[in-house]
Amino acid sequence: MECVSVELASRAYPIHIGPGLLDRVDLIRPYLKQARVAVVCNTTVAALYLGRFAASLRAAGIAVVEIVLPDGEAYKNWETLNLVFDTLLRERCERSTTLIALGGGVIGDMTGFAAACYQRGTPFIQIPTTLLSQVDSSVGGKTAINHPAGKNMIGAFYQPRLVLADTDVLKSLPDRELRSGLVEVIKYGLIRDLAFFEWLEENVERVLARDTAALEYAIGLSCRHKAEVVAADEHEHGERALLNLGHTFGHAIETGMGYGEWLHGEAVAAGTMMAAELSRMRGWLGVDEVARIERLFVRAGVPVKGPAMATGKYVELMRHDKKVQDGRLRLILLRRIGEAVIDDASSVVQIAEAIDI
Ligand code: NAD
Ligand code: MG
Repeated sequence: MECVSVELASRAYPIHIGPGLLDRVDLIRPYLKQARVAVVCNTTVAALYLGRFAASLRAAGIAVVEIVLPDGEAYKNWETLNLVFDTLLRERCERSTTLIALGGGVIGDMTGFAAACYQRGTPFIQIPTTLLSQVDSSVGGKTAINHPAGKNMIGAFYQPRLVLADTDVLKSLPDRELRSGLVEVIKYGLIRDLAFFEWLEENVERVLARDTAALEYAIGLSCRHKAEVVAADEHEHGERALLNLGHTFGHAIETGMGYGEWLHGEAVAAGTMMAAELSRMRGWLGVDEVARIERLFVRAGVPVKGPAMATGKYVELMRHDKKVQDGRLRLILLRRIGEAVIDDASSVVQIAEAIDI
């Protein structure tokens, strides 16, 4: 089992990574303020794991309120969040009742926000069950729901007490979701760790085959990278922006195609190739390095080209992204594999050219 500590002064918390963690009530117990929890889950994950998880909690003398929400990003909204509050109130849950998120990023984000709000803040534990949520959304304390006018527009920074990333639950994850999550793993190599990128070049097939040791290593190192970045810049004033490599281009793809058409990681992969191309045009990456990044994404089974969408539409959608400052697009580019930079000096013409490649 790996353990990563997220160092946030008084709110530091551990992330345990390894097989069989879903059954480790002993890891959860010390964090509970009362022998009662509310587990938030969705229908898909509940069918697979909630019965077993709730049973082991109850066997340890912990009362469990089960809250099962519909599955999908479309339900990451105010109405569904209210279902959580309705149940918490009906069951008379208290400020000392711990909320446990058992699911992917959608459940994690919603449960975290519910925990931040319910009775002005209840303890919160995350058990992320997708690769994306294990390496990304469960680290850093961003919680949110969507608004019709924008994704993740209503939310709070709220840190969990504990994260348990069980590598075994990834065995039931659909292949496409696993590949999409792997893009965020590759991203950590690209922005700050050449040796990790090289390890992924050696081991990507093992990760895709869900080899326990490979998953544990890749998830552990990814969490360590994100934890370091977040500890240095919790509220995204500087370095945390580097985590957005490929994301401004990617958001244009996700929004342009309609949410759900392209998975997040798929859009980020294609977006990262655009950022790589722009980095080459700026004189940073060599042609061989761009090709090397592309080869790894191809082996990971994710797209390396964006969908056919007018370049003007890309640029317009990118301008709506949060990363526009004083009318200039701030993009994350690569100085080399393993080192990212924040850049606002690329011209719209260059950006359009990188999109068209
Ligand atoms: P998701 O939560 O929708 O899960 C993807 C699908 O996999 C769902 O259908 C889910 O039911 C299913 N699933 C989950 N675990 C499973 C398992 N073990 N076996 C079988 N099926 C399983 O999507 P996601 O990719 O995990 O998360 C995406 C969300 O995360 C987005 O809403 C995004 O905004 C958010 N996010 C948040 C942060 C953050 O810092 N808070 C960072 C990145 C992404
Ligand atoms: Mg992302």
